[in-house]
Amino acid sequence: MDDTSGKSKHHLVIVGGGTAGWMAAALLSRQVSPKECRITVIAENDSGIGVGEATIPSINSLLRTLGADEAEFMQVCDATWKLAIQFSDWLKPEHDYWHPFGVAGAKIDERDLFPYWLRDQKRPYQTYSLNWAAAVAGKSPHSLTMQSPIAATGAYAFHLNAKKLSMWLQQRALNSGVQQIHGHVAHASRNDAGDVATVELADGNSVAADFFIDCSGFESVLLRQTLDDQWIDWSGHLLCDRAVAVRTPGKAIIPSHTRSLGLTAGWSWDIPLQSQRGLGYVYSGEFISDDDAWKELRAAHRLADDAELEPQFLQMRVGRQTQFWHHNVLAIGLSAGFIEPLESTGLHLAQVGLERFVELFAISGETQPLQQMYNREMAEVYDQARDFVQLHYHLSQREEAFWKASRELPLSVELQHRLRLYSENATVGLLRPEAFPESSYYFLLTGNGRLPKRPPAQSLAVEADRLQFVMQAIQDQNRTALRNLPLHEEMLRHIQAASLARAS
Ligand SMILES: Cc1cc2nc3c(=O)[nH]c(=O)nc-3n(C[C@H](O)[C@H](O)[C@H](O)COP(=O)(O)OP(=O)(O)OC[C@H]3O[C@@H](n4cnc5c(N)ncnc54)[C@H](O)[C@@H]3O)c2cc1C
Repeated sequence: MDDTSGKSKHHLVIVGGGTAGWMAAALLSRQVSPKECRITVIAENDSGIGVGEATIPSINSLLRTLGADEAEFMQVCDATWKLAIQFSDWLKPEHDYWHPFGVAGAKIDERDLFPYWLRDQKRPYQTYSLNWAAAVAGKSPHSLTMQSPIAATGAYAFHLNAKKLSMWLQQRALNSGVQQIHGHVAHASRNDAGDVATVELADGNSVAADFFIDCSGFESVLLRQTLDDQWIDWSGHLLCDRAVAVRTPGKAIIPSHTRSLGLTAGWSWDIPLQSQRGLGYVYSGEFISDDDAWKELRAAHRLADDAELEPQFLQMRVGRQTQFWHHNVLAIGLSAGFIEPLESTGLHLAQVGLERFVELFAISGETQPLQQMYNREMAEVYDQARDFVQLHYHLSQREEAFWKASRELPLSVELQHRLRLYSENATVGLLRPEAFPESSYYFLLTGNGRLPKRPPAQSLAVEADRLQFVMQAIQDQNRTALRNLPLHEEMLRHIQAASLARAS
């Protein structure tokens, strides 16, 4: 058959043009040979939900795969750097704890600093983190030459305008040969094997393909609606099911961290972009009305009553599909599952789902064993991320009805096991890399005043003098590194100037 027509090639169709859809198109068009496979995106005239504004460090590997220039990416997406999250009023009012990216200080004998810190708790655990120190000082992760200890470990992420990110990904996908069809999938037909054969669009056209990626958001038009895959509801783990989001003018000083503020029936995000500030309240509709949530959000951030703001109210379905890859359909993004955005896992989960799929995807042959492995692994990835988010609520001591109810929700067997390990032996038992490394658990647990019963035996083997020396050396090294990091605004101005120079 004529190869230039593309008809003999494997045809992969992505349904949905939100961030997940365009991320799938951009990644796959780079990683699957165009000689073997042509890719089409069916997208409506919107760029999706568009409120995912904070990311975690795994996004750096996406940028590398896409061959992106970080400064250019940041300019296009109105992005700022993110080094940490500050949790205010979560444990109780007037209390802060931090979740910085990366590790605290250095590893000792290949182990996290944590068990050693337990023997020498003069300063809080997070104060050994360079990310924490840089976030508190409003610094950038990079020096002016784009090099620094934080840059070297990649322990930083971005705040960004999600709609602009979606358009940036779309542009890259189209540049790599992805075709776009404007349309809405009204119906899907299955063949005798039960696979999806064609999708029929609202305008009467139909599109046939060998494989489909369902990126239709909460609709999950192929995986859930057509293949009838079962949804696993997590409202028994996480109570928040509504959000109100708004954009306001940017702050004079742009922080390099996200602030998450505990409120009466949930929490509020405060995300700094270069030109704007994203604010939102994630709450449980059972404990507060939309009107009261909007009022509380305005009051919490002192938004003037006469400010003309356009709040966007969103319904959230928290849970995941039973299978992510079923028949010839893979679900990515909100169509696969959703965990409320407390730890910014949305884009990360889409990215991990795609990266693992690319490793396993074969144009032909028996896919059943691959699907089984993929589904098992992705279920674990989602469940671990949900557990980490639930832990924040579990540790809170706030007294409002929402917080009490959240605290009383059952924890998964795995999380209970992890907390027992922590209590008895100062470890959380991570056997393979997860979205959040063990240090993330230690920041969260110590920040909430939760400590193990004792340091593990191995850490007792280190002489007290040597330990003190190392702990001091980490603080000294961090101070030196911090001096060499420019202020966040200074570095943003630097990349803005570089971008203007490139454009002229
Ligand atoms: C309140 C809130 C805050 C969030 N904050 C963050 C955050 O800080 N960080 C983060 O990483 N993630 C965050 N997320 C998650 C993030 O928004 C999503 O992971 C991300 O936007 C990917 O969404 P998506 O593309 O899967 O779905 P969507 O953005 O909903 O896109 C789905 C697309 O499919 C299209 N579509 C639907 N049905 C059809 C059909 N039948 N035919 C054709 N097209 C169709 C829609 O028009 C839309 O364009 C947040 C989510 C919410 C709700």
